[in-house]
Amino acid sequence: MSDYLADAELAKARLAGVSGSFCLAKWKQVSLHLTTGHTNSCYHPPLHRIPTEPLVDNPSALHNTAHKKQRRAEMMEGVKCTECNYCWNIEQNGSLSDRHYRSGEPWAMEAFEDIVANPQADVNPSYVEVNFNHACNLK
Ligand code: SF4
Repeated sequence: MSDYLADAELAKARLAGVSGSFCLAKWKQVSLHLTTGHTNSCYHPPLHRIPTEPLVDNPSALHNTAHKKQRRAEMMEGVKCTECNYCWNIEQNGSLSDRHYRSGEPWAMEAFEDIVANPQADVNPSYVEVNFNHACNLK
């Protein structure tokens, strides 16, 4: 078994100890679309608009939006939010999903205990994708 697969299997077991829908990517991975002011975590769920008012006092609200915090709270309770259907559909067949693969990677798993201890706290993402504009160098 590859290390990648072994890490995902280990993550599956650790995540299950918290809830049936817990996913570290909801905390530690972010895509930011600066041209439109949208974000998602991870990159599978639909994008949502970043509220600007909270950014005045809290720059981390760029990632830690109220929308994501609500989804995180649901995950801690075992709710399978519809925006993560990509993973639930794969898991229905008994397969490992990106929830297990992403959570099993070191950049996510290293935060496991801190997130479980304080799931509503703002977190700094480890895996960041930023879309600055729609220009394509390959055009
Ligand atoms: S459950 Fe799946 S779709 Fe949702 S954040 Fe995790 S990896 Fe992404």
